[in-house]
Amino acid sequence: MGEQVGEQVDALRRELCEYGRRAAALGLVIGTSGNLSARDGDLVVVTPSGVALDRLRPEDCPVVGLDGRVVRGERKPSSETPMHLALYRETGARAVVHTHSVFATVVASTMTELPPIHYNALLLGGAVRVAPYATYGTPELARNVIAAIEGRQAALMANHGAVTIGGGDEGGLEQAFEATRLLEWLCEVYVRALGVGRPTVLTEDQLTAVIERALQG
Ligand SMILES: [Zn+2]
Repeated sequence: MGEQVGEQVDALRRELCEYGRRAAALGLVIGTSGNLSARDGDLVVVTPSGVALDRLRPEDCPVVGLDGRVVRGERKPSSETPMHLALYRETGARAVVHTHSVFATVVASTMTELPPIHYNALLLGGAVRVAPYATYGTPELARNVIAAIEGRQAALMANHGAVTIGGGDEGGLEQAFEATRLLEWLCEVYVRALGVGRPTVLTEDQLTAVIERALQG
């Protein structure tokens, strides 16, 4: 591993710690639930198994290849690493955030998709699909998530939680993290709206009009 690659990887390890703390502070993760990763070329830095995200140190975060072999670090990679790696292999993701946040998990345990009742859902690609349930850490769960997230920046995972990706040159952890916050907000709005009445879902025409409006600047 060249020195330059090592420096980038170390920068990503520090970023994982920063976003781990932010996720815990916002209540998006509790204790060791939830995991984050970021990609640098053929390497992926991932949060370790069994360490609370608000107590992470950079050296705790293992560095793995896209095939899952650990190339640096003493700790065991998160049990959800196969899902993270599948997302890197199958999408243009540069970062992945996975949480068991409350409202996302409520929606993921009761519905097959989160309907767009607010136009900000378009920032995630529209209606957010719920990937069918499979045991955590399995290739089956990874496959289900890949199918659900196609054309989107986010997916819900049945009876489990949420996953978001950040991509592109300006993307990365910041983008994936903001997508997680937005998804949790959209799920909370939907769940609270259900408590008041029947939420109105935006139509295709209404969503298209928002995209056209946004393109006008
Ligand atoms: Zn999980």
